[in-house]
Amino acid sequence: MPRIPVKLVTWDEIVEWSWGLAEKIMDDGYIPDVIIAIARGGYVPARLLCDFLGVENLLSIQSQHWTEAAKKDERALIKFEYHINLSGYKALLVDDIIDTGESVILARDFIKKYWSPKELRTATLQWISPVAKIKPDYYYLEVKEWIWFQYPWTRLEDVTQFIKRIIETEFKNNARVQWNEKELEEAFYEWYGITVDKKYITKAINMLIRKGILRSENGILRYVTQ
Ligand code: ADP
Repeated sequence: MPRIPVKLVTWDEIVEWSWGLAEKIMDDGYIPDVIIAIARGGYVPARLLCDFLGVENLLSIQSQHWTEAAKKDERALIKFEYHINLSGYKALLVDDIIDTGESVILARDFIKKYWSPKELRTATLQWISPVAKIKPDYYYLEVKEWIWFQYPWTRLEDVTQFIKRIIETEFKNNARVQWNEKELEEAFYEWYGITVDKKYITKAINMLIRKGILRSENGILRYVTQ
């Protein structure tokens, strides 16, 4: 059993889910004049919805809550608070997933207050209903048990953070500082239960070396403790 429930999401699934979401919006008769992507998770679904719904106007707002994969940061905030005038526009706010819902609530309230669209609706590919503080106007999949969705656009970032967590925990619990790539690959599978292209493990290790978290000595990887 993996220690953290993770589902690997493929690009094909993203396209399929975005089609499903677009159809729900179309069936409801909502025709947005502008789509607003919540950065960063909403970018790909928002761009696909522009294509599938035939919408030309695409804007973005950065609402940030989670700073590390499957780990929650304390607060959500709007980065780069710019003000524009959307009066007369019917808008659709798009994100990948509603987990707590805080990022979407924050972005929605900010847009309503400072951008004044004629109408604003929300759409996400997924909605984790038991933990979410809001239900989006449109969603494609309802998730009934919390899980970390490893989306294709954050593969390297997630794999890097997941490996970092393994190394830190093993150091804390067993004072382990030494690894090789194969051991990390095996631990990754054991912890998260997903198989990623080996290239991501290698690139994640390189990233941790660049960040000074690991040091490579003749194929041996050492955790650099502070
Ligand atoms: P919201 O619930 O409004 O999406 P959160 O603050 O909970 O706001 O999450 C913000 C972002 O963090 C999401 O848009 C997504 O990119 C990422 N995220 C949160 N929960 C998950 C999850 N369970 N799986 C994958 N990504 C997630």
